[in-house]
This record gives sequence, structure tokens and C-alpha cells, in this order.
Amino acid sequence: PAASPSRLLDGLDPEQRAAAEVTGGPLLIIAGPGTGKTRTLTHRLAHLLTAYEVPPGQCLAITFTRRAAEEMSERLVALVPEHAPGVTVATFHALGVRILREQHERAGLPADFGIADANLRMEIATELAGDEKRAGRLLTELSRQRRTGGSDLELADAADRYLKALRQRNLVDFDDLVTLPVTLLESDPELVAAYRERYRWISVDEYQDVDEQQYRLLRLLAPADGNLTAIGDPDQAIYRFRGADVGFFLRFREDFPSAHTVRLTRNYRSSAKVLAAALGLIAPGTLVPGRALHPMGEHGDAPVGTHAATTEQAEASFVARTIEQLLGGASFHSLDSGRVDSDGTQGLGFSDFAVLYRTDRQARAVMDALTRAGLPFQKRSHDRLTDRPGVPAILAELNYLPTTEPPGGPAVSVPGRLRRAADACLERLPRNEERDAAAADLHTAFELLTPLAERCDEDLERFRTELLLGIEVDTWDPRADRVSLLTLHAAKGLEFPVVFVVGCEDGLLPLRWPGAAEKAADEETAEERRLLFVGMTRAQRHLYLSHVAERLRQGQPRTTTRSPFLADLDPEVCERVGDTPRRKPRETQLRLL
Ligand code: ATP
Ligand code: MG
Repeated sequence: PAASPSRLLDGLDPEQRAAAEVTGGPLLIIAGPGTGKTRTLTHRLAHLLTAYEVPPGQCLAITFTRRAAEEMSERLVALVPEHAPGVTVATFHALGVRILREQHERAGLPADFGIADANLRMEIATELAGDEKRAGRLLTELSRQRRTGGSDLELADAADRYLKALRQRNLVDFDDLVTLPVTLLESDPELVAAYRERYRWISVDEYQDVDEQQYRLLRLLAPADGNLTAIGDPDQAIYRFRGADVGFFLRFREDFPSAHTVRLTRNYRSSAKVLAAALGLIAPGTLVPGRALHPMGEHGDAPVGTHAATTEQAEASFVARTIEQLLGGASFHSLDSGRVDSDGTQGLGFSDFAVLYRTDRQARAVMDALTRAGLPFQKRSHDRLTDRPGVPAILAELNYLPTTEPPGGPAVSVPGRLRRAADACLERLPRNEERDAAAADLHTAFELLTPLAERCDEDLERFRTELLLGIEVDTWDPRADRVSLLTLHAAKGLEFPVVFVVGCEDGLLPLRWPGAAEKAADEETAEERRLLFVGMTRAQRHLYLSHVAERLRQGQPRTTTRSPFLADLDPEVCERVGDTPRRKPRETQLRLL
């Protein structure tokens, strides 16, 4: 049908608009950081729903995290409130659950199959491997092998027994959520046809990070000339260690020969200097030759600050000091080098600052320094709700409770059942010295589960499904007015006016695990470079890259050197900052006397 020009595309720039206006067929959108990928995807969907009257039920939007899915749903509701509820916005795992629920018989699963929590998986693996350390390694290896679709003869037996143990308990694990639907669909062309008929419009965000199984699922769901939109940035592919393979992005046009390609080159997020530094950094390893990225926003012209500290503690103090100075209204640069920031730094709040690091343990020193300076902060961590102490006990109890009360009477609401389950668990606690701690765990678990239970009200099935996905307790609240502490991985997709990347040292960026080969594989180094690229491109106005001369590794102070990546920064846009003024050497003072 002929489309009427839609107001929905008004908020897009010409390139974004061009992407949104491609209607049928495969579409590849290659877009750098800060170019408005989510915005483009969402507006495109809204446009399809209204201008082309695509039925919402035919639309499937896949994101990588639950938070991203929630955000996209919210944005869709804001744009097209009457169509949005019918659209499926899901992570690969959520999609997998849906397919397995619908097809549980074919998959050989009971209708109420559950998902194994980390403790149980560990228990099973420990039986197979002997001790916990080896069990941990076994689980990681099994998972990697299943995600990449590989088969390792040495692992085949363990894999078999592990899966058998899960199935005996009517459980699946996270990898199953994708591999089982793939297996089902691969053996049943009619099923493939049915799902293709249902999801005729598919879009995938962060396509550069799909793994082999996810890719196979997509190929099954989308025919070669199907309406599949893939959006992403190969230079931000950072999940290789989990089995992701940027190769799938790079060969999209071979897999889908009739694909349109659109590039988004306007960056709305970062200052020209931040962008120049980031582009310099990625240039030697870029997977997007000839990439252009033009700064569009007004984000000042502060140079990218590089800082050399003596120790980790000194580096953390530099971070705290700089935050205080920027918050104090006095620009750091004006203090340091007599230059004044053109964008001013007024109006910054705690939440405008983020400190990024390669490994979680680097957070300690930063937290200490921020605490000493009285600066509020929040550290992002992802815990599975089902892994929290107390939660498994309550959930097990929940399954035994009757759904109605009295039998045959009205259904008990999920919050009501939850309360009863928690009470029953409390009653059952042994009366010994561990009771208090266990009761406290149950109490916390109850409070953690309550908001979800309230959201699901009557609908126990939905509650189960949400739990089945191991609903992540993301401890990071974007609305809290606190300095954010994040790993580089966890910072993906976010943006902050002021960003610090600490620990820009050889051994951390690129990371070398203790005991790893002295010379890392080239692909590993390339991925570490991309990780720093992701970190740098989170910054809007101010970016600081710091490194230390000496760092504790495995308990021993080790001399460190700057990250080799820093050599690729354009010196024109960088400036050394925050050097503590050195005391004059004694001799000179004496001679002066
Ligand atoms: P990343 O690769 O880091 O995930 P992205 O491409 O997903 O980045 P977004 O986070 O969607 O980028 O957008 C970056 C910023 O640019 C956001 O603040 C967004 O609101 C803004 N933006 C995007 N498009 C436009 C536009 N056409 N006009 C003004 N601002 C825009
Ligand atoms: Mg994004």
C-alpha cells in the first residue's frame, strides 16, 4: 500500500530517515556509536505500524538485554500507544522461552519446565567434574561450546550427562533457551513456515554481538529475502569471550543478497575532540574501513585528558579530585592549564559522571576514594534474582502451594502466594544459631520478589516466565544521582557527560589473565581495542584516560606500562592533566641558597 508521509519520521536526520523508510526486504544498518541506532529502529517500527499498517503481531524486535527491551517498549508506547502492546520486544532468551512454551511437547519438555539456577548447575557439574573449581571451568566450556555450535569429543560425555541431569529435573538452562528452539525448527520445516508466517518483520539491535546459535535461530525465522533489519557496529563487538562472532554481521550481505545497506554517520553524543580521539584509537583495528563519524552535538571543546598516576590509589584520588573540581563549577582545565572550557561545566550532577574499568576488582580503589571525598556512587552489577540466597527456597515452596483457596475457590494472587510461601519457609527454619541469618535472607528474598509479584498480580504463569529468565537485578539505577562505576562491558549503550577510563595499561587494556601467554592472539587484542573504543565513546563532554606506574597483581606490586592503544590517540586533541606538582629536587634548592 502507498504510504502517507508520516510525522513519525520528523525527529530523524536524513540518514536515519532513509533507514526508516526502507520497507520490505533485508536491511543492514551500519552505524557508529551515538548515531541514534535505537531511535532509528523504534521510529522505523512505528512508521511500519502506522504508515504501512503492518499488524503489530507480525513485528518482532530483538534486543540483547532486558533493560534494552524495556526501553524500546517504552519508546514504542510513547510513539504509537495503540499499536505498541501487540509488538513482541524480546531478548533472544525471552523469545526462546516463548517458542519452547508453545512447543514444549515437541521439545520433550513438560508445560511447566523450569530453569536451572546457578547453584543447581554447579551441583550437577561438581558431581561430574569432581571439585568446584573444575566444575566452574566445565560449565564455562560447555556453555561456550554450545553457543558456538562446536563439538568437542572430550566434552561430549560430560555434556550428555549434564543435560540428562537437567532434564530429569524438568529443567533447561540458559543456553537451551536458544539451542532447543534451533534444534526443533531445524527438524521441522512446517514449524519454520509457521513462525515465519507469524513474525514477518524482524529487527535485531547490536547484531555485531550475535553468537552462532542466535544466528541460526534468526536464519530459521527470516527467509533470505525476508524483512529482517540488522543494526549494529562491528567496531563495538565485545562479546567474543561469550561466543559472539562479529563475522555474522560482516557477512550479512552474503546471507541476505538482496539487502539494502544504510550507514549512519552523524554522532549526536560526543564532542568533536572525544570523537577524534576515539576514531584515532579504533583506526588501526577498524572493521568498518572508510568509516565516517561526524560530530553534530554541542558538547564543548575540552581536550581528552590523559593522566599518569603513581599508584592505583593516586589514580582514584585523581578521579575524585577531578569530579569535585568539575562539580565545583571551576573547570578542571582552567585550573590546570589556564584554559577555560568553552562549554562551561555548570549544572553537572553526580549522575553525570561515570568511571569505567576493565576488571571489576579495579572498582575498590575508586570506591574508597569517592567515599573519602564524600561523593555518592553506585556500582553496576548484574545478579540473577534466582541466585540470591533465600530465593530458591521461596520459589520451591511457591510451587507446592495450592493455586486456589479453599480448593476450588478463588485463585490466590501472586503476591498473596508469595507471602504464604515466605511464611512457610520461615516456619520451617531450624532453631539454631544460623536461624537469624537464614531468616534475614528469606526476608530480603521476599522483598526482592515482591515488585515482580505485584506486576504479575494474577498471572502466576507470567511470574514464572519472568523468573525463568532469571530476571536480572540490575543494581544500577539510571535515575539515581550518583557517580556510576561500571565495567567497560556494562557501559555499552550508555552515555555520560563526563567519563573516566581508569587503568589504561598494558595487561589491563589489553587484558592479560595471570598465566596467559605473553603474546595474546591478535583477535583478542583487537577485541580489547574495541572495548576501549566502546568506553571512550560513552563520553559526551569530558573524557579522561588514566594509567598507573605500579599496580598490585596477584598481591605483588608490579611496574606497569601505558596501554599500547594510547599511542594511537591524536595528540592534537589530548592533554596531560592532573599531574601533582613535583617538589623541586633538593639539590637545586640548595644551589639556589
Ligand atoms: P551506541 O552505539 O553507543 O549504542 P546508538 O547509536 O545506539 O549508540 P543512541 O544512544 O540511540 O545511539 O543515541 C545517542 C544520542 O544521540 C542520544 O542521546 C540520542 O537521543 C541522540 N540522537 C540520536 N538521533 C538524534 C537526532 N536525529 N537528533 C538529535 N539527537 C539524536
Ligand atoms: Mg545503542
